[in-house]
Amino acid sequence: MSAEPTRTTESTAFRSGLEAIRGVEPRIADAIGAEIEDQRASLKLIASENYASPAVLLAMGNWLSDKYAEGTVGRRFYAGCRNVDTVEAVAAEHARELFGARHAYVQPHSGIDANLVAFWAVLAQRVESPALERAGVRQVNELTEEDWAALRRDLGDQRMLGMSLDAGGHLTHGFRPNISGKMFHQRSYGTDPESGLIDYAALRASAREFRPLIIIAGYSAYPRLVNFRLMREIADEVDATLMVDMAHFAGLVAGKVLTGDFDPVPHAQIVTTTTHKSLRGPRGGMVLCDDSLADQVDRGCPMVLGGPLPHVMAAKAVALAEARQPEFRAYAQRVVDNARALADGLTRRGARLVTGGTDNHLALIDVSGYGLTGRQAEEALLEAGIVTNRNAIPRDPNGAWYTSGIRVGTPALTTRGLGTAEMDEVAELIDTVLSRTSVGTTRSGKPSKATYALEDGVAKQVAERSADLLAKHPLYPGIDLS
Ligand SMILES: *Cc1c(COP(=O)(O)O)cnc(C)c1O
Repeated sequence: MSAEPTRTTESTAFRSGLEAIRGVEPRIADAIGAEIEDQRASLKLIASENYASPAVLLAMGNWLSDKYAEGTVGRRFYAGCRNVDTVEAVAAEHARELFGARHAYVQPHSGIDANLVAFWAVLAQRVESPALERAGVRQVNELTEEDWAALRRDLGDQRMLGMSLDAGGHLTHGFRPNISGKMFHQRSYGTDPESGLIDYAALRASAREFRPLIIIAGYSAYPRLVNFRLMREIADEVDATLMVDMAHFAGLVAGKVLTGDFDPVPHAQIVTTTTHKSLRGPRGGMVLCDDSLADQVDRGCPMVLGGPLPHVMAAKAVALAEARQPEFRAYAQRVVDNARALADGLTRRGARLVTGGTDNHLALIDVSGYGLTGRQAEEALLEAGIVTNRNAIPRDPNGAWYTSGIRVGTPALTTRGLGTAEMDEVAELIDTVLSRTSVGTTRSGKPSKATYALEDGVAKQVAERSADLLAKHPLYPGIDLS
């Protein structure tokens, strides 16, 4: 296949689209055009971001967006859903085949929404259904006022065991600022202070004492593998449902880098994910589950979700079809190889990494080794054109706002085509910036946690080297808007 025809077609498609937008609101056309330039110019190490293919992007920009399609395939509350049915069925079929899941629900608008669908599916299965049975009725509408009040109290009185935030867990795993923390009594499990790895023995002891309804596994800042077989064993011992939120590493599961004990799908009763992180699809979410939860999961809309986004489900179908190609397996393996090369490169230059390295797509640099807070490091790196984010590390002395960590991930740069040798150069650039950044002072002359000073000329020098690196791997080479 020659590259030229695709390139012309892609450019034409995006150019015509932008022209139409420009005719209505030029500022938006400008912002869209400027965004591709920003993305092209930055060394993106944000572990949760990626670059979706032009086919995925185009699947979202069309009239599928005009349809209401509450309900599920073949059982809609609206007429005229023939094509949306096709879209949703194809997306779900790809998801089931790709992940080897019994059931897939592709409507959630985001990872948070997928988690809400999962929480309520488990609550419906384990708290609401038994209450209906006890009362001898089929629907909540048939309950007496007293029984309904008792059920509502029960639903709000359940326990969840999730990974602590500073060990890399996510806000939606039962923390108070998120609705999950208001719904559930929550207790956290964490990592061993010595190894930095999940402490399964402590987790088991905590589960036995706390007796949670749900044990939730999954993370957004843990650089190692999770043993889901062991997690399921612990969940079974205490009669908890194992839920895995694979938002960050779904691409590594899809690409068969995480298999056996490290593949959550055969072990958990319910698995949630985003579709836009390592999976490289459109911004969205998804739920996979076994047969026992399928009906409850399918009630996600209108239970907690607004009407489905048919255009995004179309893009999910395209991305999942892409992920079933052999090229995606090679991509997933390169993501992990690149993360290891980046981690090794950093370690060799003296950086301290949480757990000493990585087994997945991300690494966590403890920047206190450079005398900096995460906030200072993040801003100094950004000044030099390196996009990362600050992140708490286990038992972080600087708290969740300033932090002591910088999270780096390789899904995006790997999509761009960078390889392991180039990751070593990226490590060199990061180390250069961090070792030549000093702590700023507050107005009263005290050391500040927020301000920093980067030595003269470093930002420019690093930006030039990173531009050279990126020029070798053009982003969206088929799209020319000029
Ligand atoms: C990113 C993430 C989410 C939230 O995804 P959104 O699409 O932003 O709602 C949920 N859980 C985990 C573990 C994540 O990493």
